[in-house]
Amino acid sequence: MMAVPIGAAQSAGVNRAAGQVTAYYRFKLGTFTVTALSDGFLTLPSPLLATNVAEPELKGFVRANYIGDDQFRAQITAVVIDTGDHLVLVDAGGGGRAQATTGLLMAGLEGAGIDPADIDRLVLTHAHPDHLWGAVGGGGEIRFASARHIISDAEWAFWMNPPDLGFPERWRGMVEGNQNAFRAIADRIERIKPGVEVVTGIATIDTPGHTPGHMSVHVASDGEELVITGDAITHAVLSFAHPDWHSGFDGDRDKAVATRRRLMDLMATDRPLVLGYHFPFPGVGHVAREGDAYRWVSEQWRWSL
Ligand SMILES: [Zn+2]
Repeated sequence: MMAVPIGAAQSAGVNRAAGQVTAYYRFKLGTFTVTALSDGFLTLPSPLLATNVAEPELKGFVRANYIGDDQFRAQITAVVIDTGDHLVLVDAGGGGRAQATTGLLMAGLEGAGIDPADIDRLVLTHAHPDHLWGAVGGGGEIRFASARHIISDAEWAFWMNPPDLGFPERWRGMVEGNQNAFRAIADRIERIKPGVEVVTGIATIDTPGHTPGHMSVHVASDGEELVITGDAITHAVLSFAHPDWHSGFDGDRDKAVATRRRLMDLMATDRPLVLGYHFPFPGVGHVAREGDAYRWVSEQWRWSL
């Protein structure tokens, strides 16, 4: 995990290093305005997509669905919700340090005309580096200085005093990095029990398993609903087709399966708009039932608000 400063190659929302414009996608949800912002992507080992199925079965699925035989890309999409009274950011990206291909959020905000100083709530679904580390700059400075930083009590407690889970050596840096980020934002933090409303119309949902204190976010305005899944569901194809497959990225895999199934069932029944943090950008769509499993249906690009 290298420390790579962002900013040098970026201005006015254009990520010149990547040869691609920095991406944001805006839509209305009732009277709220929602902006999905790409923070870049992670490259992850494909074998970790399922740890409880035979290797040939996983390899076959990965190949058939063009996921990437050895490695796959997980897109990263943060969300800003403008309620009229509040500007709420959900997750902060990887800050260019989770992996060097993360950290585009600040350029995305600039491109979308959103001043980070105007964000008054930052909801952290959980404290993995690709969600938390972007809240803090390379010099340790707080990125969203006006924002109350909201995280579940269980998540904070877990990372500040991680039980001896036999974290592999390569994960030590993650624990230390999380604790450093927590220390940087400590005086802005508000620790909550999942389920409470953050501001009017935006509530947290208890979705543990990926991490002990993982929360998803429910947004409701004027009869319209949006569920921001966070990492309760991590892959737009595999997680839906095989919700029972154990993801190597989940901490408590049985609990993660139960949470995933509960959330998918709810979303297939209630039919809200859904936004997945690691789905292909902008990660907006719906959940359909497919036999005993589910299917992700991307929504059509909206050309107007
Ligand atoms: Zn993640």
